[in-house]
Amino acid sequence: MRRSQRTCDLLTGLADRDAFDRLSVASGPAWPRSVLLLDLDRFRAINDVHGCALGDHVLRAVAARMEAVCSSWPSVVLLARLAGDEFAVVLEGGERAACEALAEALRDAIREPIAVGGVQLLLDAGIGIALPHGELTIWELASRAGAALRPLKQTGKLPRTIVYEEAEHAQLLDRLALGLDLRTALAEDQVELDYQPIVDLGRRCVIGYEALVRWSHPERGRLGPLTFVPLAEEAGLIVELGEWVLTHACAEAVGWRGRGPAPAPFVTVNLSVRELDDPTFVARFRATLANSGLAPERLKVELTESVLAAGLDRVVPPLKALRQAGVGVLLDDFGTGYSSLQYIRELPLDGVKLDRVFASDLDVSAGAWTLTRAAVGMLGELGLEVIAEGVESAAQLAQLRSLGCRFGQGYYFARPLPGSRVSAELPDCEPA
Ligand code: C2E
Ligand code: MG
Ligand code: MG
Repeated sequence: MRRSQRTCDLLTGLADRDAFDRLSVASGPAWPRSVLLLDLDRFRAINDVHGCALGDHVLRAVAARMEAVCSSWPSVVLLARLAGDEFAVVLEGGERAACEALAEALRDAIREPIAVGGVQLLLDAGIGIALPHGELTIWELASRAGAALRPLKQTGKLPRTIVYEEAEHAQLLDRLALGLDLRTALAEDQVELDYQPIVDLGRRCVIGYEALVRWSHPERGRLGPLTFVPLAEEAGLIVELGEWVLTHACAEAVGWRGRGPAPAPFVTVNLSVRELDDPTFVARFRATLANSGLAPERLKVELTESVLAAGLDRVVPPLKALRQAGVGVLLDDFGTGYSSLQYIRELPLDGVKLDRVFASDLDVSAGAWTLTRAAVGMLGELGLEVIAEGVESAAQLAQLRSLGCRFGQGYYFARPLPGSRVSAELPDCEPA
């Protein structure tokens, strides 16, 4: 191992982040390098249980073992501690087998029992490997090695060594980048709502609108919620996003008027189960609604069947509190996931939205017709309002009506519309 250009990590005596930085600037594509990123397992627990002083001993012992391995490995250019329990090794060349062999040797060394401060510890580590690629610097390679390693560390899955594969992991990096942009999106109002009419199928009039969130990303264009709502959940931003949606949907809906004697349409917002987990959820929800001036009866929430995976104990109390405040609760995408009839009885619900798979096969399959009839009948008898999603044709509409389904939503009536077009698009409400 060459020791030129080293600045020193005071704790371990290894090269530090600055040395890694300098090497990163100096290396170029003509000088291919691979990076191994090693992260100890459960190091935080060692610190928490045995104290930081012992944790420092562990880091020194690990560093010494890594150095012993690397010193007998001629292609190693640098061994550095980047942060906490994260170490990086830079190797000359881009040979996968050589990198994997070094990773195994490092793990073997680390897994030998360590005796520090009268305590015997068994350690292990995960190692991410990034091979040279295009013009990437060694910092960029280290980021890729880290991105490949993170899911392994989170799930505790084997193998403990993983090579970053451009095709496989590029998507992961892309998601991370989008997650970072999302905070800015909320701060800068790049997020917006469209509204899709919910229709009384018999009278052919709009009775409400579902608020559907979109993101106008400055570089990627308009993104749908299926792209970024899961990211918001992962990035811990779902509470902020949910509050943004509720605030804007209520503010918009408060200005809607019914045609003639018809009542003003309601608005529905989609909730993620993670929002319900927040202990301040109900209080914040009620405060946002009260501030908007919207009558609680004109607001409904939609929750997908995934709430049921979370367990009834977690979701029933906040949903009951919303209903007590006068807000309606709808189960969304019914028929795709977990619902058993028992759950339907135990959830505090006002209605159910039948997933669009029911409507989509209605005019082509007799089985779908029988299933939809059974679902509409059963839900109706339980006193729940039923809204069929995904109505795309006059034939489907006719079938749904003949089955006694009273409400529907879908492209046949209208696609989701920007808020500015909502009142203009409101068709006349024909008397019953
Ligand atoms: P969802 O609540 O079931 O919303 C209905 C989705 O079906 C919407 O897609 C809508 O554009 C689409 N759709 C409506 N009519 C038709 C039709 O006739 N045919 C077909 N093929 N599709 C139809 P979108 O806007 O992409 O929303 C997808 C999902 O994202 C929503 O499903 C909802 O679960 C979630 N979502 C939307 N907005 C929010 C939000 O503000 N917060 C949370 N947590 N989730 C949201
Ligand atoms: Mg919905
Ligand atoms: Mg739905």
